[in-house]
Amino acid sequence: MSNQSLLESTNKLVDKALKYTNISEDLAYRIKSPNATYSINFGVKLRGKLHTFQGWRCVHSEHLEPVKGGIRYSPEANLAEVEGLAALMTYKNAIVEVPYGGSKGALRVNPHEWEVHELERITRRFAQELIKRDMIDPARNVPAPDMGTGTREMAWIADEYRIMNPADINGRACVTGKPLGKGGIAGRVEATGRGIQYIIREFFSNPEDIKKANFKGGLEGKKVAVQGFGNVGYHASKFLQEEDACKIVAVLEHTGALVNPDGINVEKAKQYLSKHGSFEGCEQGKFIKDSASLLTEKYDILIPAAVEDVINSSNAENIKANLIVEAANGPISFEADEILNKNGVIIIPDILANSGGVIVSYFEWVRNLRHIRFGRLEKRRNLEQMKTLIDAVETMTGKTMPEKFKNQFANGVEEIDLIRSGLDDMICDAYRKVREAMIEHNIPDLRTAAFKTALDKIAISYETIGL
Ligand code: NAD
Repeated sequence: MSNQSLLESTNKLVDKALKYTNISEDLAYRIKSPNATYSINFGVKLRGKLHTFQGWRCVHSEHLEPVKGGIRYSPEANLAEVEGLAALMTYKNAIVEVPYGGSKGALRVNPHEWEVHELERITRRFAQELIKRDMIDPARNVPAPDMGTGTREMAWIADEYRIMNPADINGRACVTGKPLGKGGIAGRVEATGRGIQYIIREFFSNPEDIKKANFKGGLEGKKVAVQGFGNVGYHASKFLQEEDACKIVAVLEHTGALVNPDGINVEKAKQYLSKHGSFEGCEQGKFIKDSASLLTEKYDILIPAAVEDVINSSNAENIKANLIVEAANGPISFEADEILNKNGVIIIPDILANSGGVIVSYFEWVRNLRHIRFGRLEKRRNLEQMKTLIDAVETMTGKTMPEKFKNQFANGVEEIDLIRSGLDDMICDAYRKVREAMIEHNIPDLRTAAFKTALDKIAISYETIGL
């Protein structure tokens, strides 16, 4: 384990990147320091007893408002972790050019220890505390799901905001990652996993990157291991298996791992895990209790999608994957990062790789403020234009257009198609810009280039507002 906090580790990475910028020392210090962290203890009477819960919401940088970042539920949550995660949000939001500062929240709670109705009361109480201090507000601070939370918790938070601010017409935009029908947007739940898939595809579209990672051939058939089979890990492996023909050879959960060199059926493994709480006895592969030990096996692509600091100075030297794609936030410690770079392991860093969630959250927030779904106004008009085009082509050529093309035109574009297209464009554009910065400034790795790209943008923002 690393003996420094996520914030310290992140700031060391920032220091490395600062050498490639013209940012002054005093401004760098300002950017790195969290603006404010609100710590809270609140009580909820449950099971005949008053339970005190501890939570945090950190605003790392308000150079743009609202600030944005998820809320995590975990028994290990702590102040230092929240501040580190909030810092990562500041840099991530800047890289993918969403108009937000960085924030993060957490509640120290094990969601599995409470019934759903109890969790609802705990979440609503936590939300009340944050709402009354503008720590949840469509214009100031907009949370989203993170580890241990999902659409259900976001719906409770949005409802609590509505009760406390009934006249706020934009109230639904106070939080993203809500369920469909409650102000949510299609494609948000799987967005982070989808983003992982898109960025890996983008990586494999560059012959120089493929060569640098010592790969032969394209993405098809590549052996992938995923740590954490929750929202992000499950979706990333599902899409990579179903749409890119990758082999998911290992899935590492905290209750044990499932291993199969011929490939695991992701959907069946997920169903088994949901039912039994562990992979033990699953026919999809061999069960191995000590899942962490499998991080150092040979894979083409390793996707840590669980928690921080899982690759650290104790195991980094033994990592054999060619490419690590950080779906989790902060899975590699500062020391481990140095070792992996020295050993030629390519890393697509968290602040770039897992930005799919915040990108689609941005679409949801905009949609809530517009009060109309994307594509609503133009859909019928576009269909009519397509029909006219088909008629014109058929009239001019004297031939009938094949049905498969006609059907594609006739179905038009759904909102989910627009969301996927926007996500693909924004995340791949960010990857290309970071890659170009790396080449242009002779920066040794993608992570340092990503931080440099973010820092340059944040510095301009600070300088223009005169801070
Ligand atoms: P989740 O709670 O849905 O899933 C996390 C999974 O990891 C769970 O199945 C859990 O059992 C497993 N896990 C926890 N500790 C583990 C360990 N030590 N070894 C193996 N497995 C372990 O959470 P999530 O939303 O998928 O988030 C996962 C990571 O991705 C977190 O670091 C989070 O900050 C990051 N992330 C999430 C989103 C999002 O949209 N949900 C966006 C960006 C980044």
